[in-house]
Amino acid sequence: MFKALVVEKNDEGKTSASVQEMTLDQLPEGEVTVAVEFSTVNYKDGLCIGPGGGLVRNYPHVPGIDFSGTVEASDDGRYKPGDKVVLTGWRVGEAHWGGYAQKARVKADWLVPLPTGITARQAMAVGTAGFTAMLAVQALLDHGMKAEDGPVLVTGAAGGVGSVATAILANMGFEVAAVTGRPETADYLKSLGATQIVPREELNETTKRPLEGETWAGCVDAVGGAMLARLLGQMKYGASVAAVGLAGGAALPATVIPFLLRGVNLLGIDSVMQPYDNRLRAWAKLAEVLPMDKLEAMVQPATLEDLPQLGRDILKGQVKGRVVVDLS
Ligand code: NDP
Repeated sequence: MFKALVVEKNDEGKTSASVQEMTLDQLPEGEVTVAVEFSTVNYKDGLCIGPGGGLVRNYPHVPGIDFSGTVEASDDGRYKPGDKVVLTGWRVGEAHWGGYAQKARVKADWLVPLPTGITARQAMAVGTAGFTAMLAVQALLDHGMKAEDGPVLVTGAAGGVGSVATAILANMGFEVAAVTGRPETADYLKSLGATQIVPREELNETTKRPLEGETWAGCVDAVGGAMLARLLGQMKYGASVAAVGLAGGAALPATVIPFLLRGVNLLGIDSVMQPYDNRLRAWAKLAEVLPMDKLEAMVQPATLEDLPQLGRDILKGQVKGRVVVDLS
């Protein structure tokens, strides 16, 4: 028997989540069975613990888009019992049962070996949010962003993606301007390395001007919507914005002027379907550029029982940094 957070849907279509006992034969098919040690809470997890957001196909469902742990059984030559592994993405925790259980069974293709220099707990402090932050920073670097070009903007900075992006960029020598709607997180963001705090309202106001002063040498944007539209017009000539999230909305009420007159680049970032080699590259880079003491400062520890409340909190933008769920 092992414990899992199970989401059920009643006849009226209402979902409810509770911790339940399960047996191994209830797990879905897959080549590798993992004893899950840690998981985490991302924005998507909030949707899957709660109403589903169109992501969950079948109920009962075990959410958890990320997990780390130890292989218990494997029908695939790449993994053997005792191997430490990490999983993010591939629609695990949405279309497939995920990491909010002490055991998970998945396809071997979805796993990566736990990166050297990172513990199973640290891997979940990173999780999809941190992994995506790394993909975003990497994309900006690949498009020529340099520390000497000026400040880099991070939106939704006190959230998971934003916190990790802030810590990585500051550690790599970039000046980081952190956009937050929670002024009380200013000290926290400065402790991660932000040198400037930009109030959310400043970028949420719409403007009729398609171009403003050239201010930012790059941007990791977790917010989207009107904020992304506005900041496109504030980018320096040739600078890039990595579009990661939609915490502020999916619409993009922008003009093409920043692309045409300033050569601004809008880079899409997807963490879910990233090919294996890119995953290894991003995890190796995280081990190199993410300061583990700052990562620890972002962590809020949790258990399976805390997840229904944390799911609601993250949908309201009320989770600071990264949650690490201990399943051991
Ligand atoms: P969090 O909830 O931890 O962070 C989101 C942050 O955005 C909040 O903490 C808040 O930051 C800010 N925010 C929330 N609501 C609003 C709003 N209405 N207007 C402006 N800012 C707002 O989520 P994550 O960091 O885990 O994810 C961030 C986004 O990235 C989500 O949309 C998520 O779906 C997406 N994502 C995409 C991935 C991909 O593969 N492309 C992978 C992972 C996440 P503050 O309080 O500092 O203002």
